[in-house]
Amino acid sequence: MDNKINTRNMNININSVRYKVSRTKKLWDGGEPCWGVTLFKENKIKIDNSLSAQKMEQVLVHELVHATLHEAGLENYSCDEELVNPLGNALYSLIMENQPLFRTMMDNYRRYSDKSLTTVSQIGKYFK
Ligand SMILES: [Zn+2]
Repeated sequence: MDNKINTRNMNININSVRYKVSRTKKLWDGGEPCWGVTLFKENKIKIDNSLSAQKMEQVLVHELVHATLHEAGLENYSCDEELVNPLGNALYSLIMENQPLFRTMMDNYRRYSDKSLTTVSQIGKYFK
């Protein structure tokens, strides 16, 4: 097992649309070799399996920017590499260089989720 992102059963929700992420041997986009591709119609993101672990993560964030702009209805921007490339790199850097912030946010998210589950369970008991 390598240290690359595990895409087995990796689904990422973008504006309530579930994207399936997978690693692939060789990728082509419009006749050109590429490192990642987002298929809007199929809700799929494919990443070149030969990339390093870090480059694979960076490319995934890049593809997530494509998908986010598409699902936001910003079609004029969703395929604009001059926008998506710096935005993806900046977002990747933001996440990687501020990990304590994102860990805290994830911990809080889990706490909120658990609280809502408890509430639902309590409501269920109330109606029995
Ligand atoms: Zn791109």
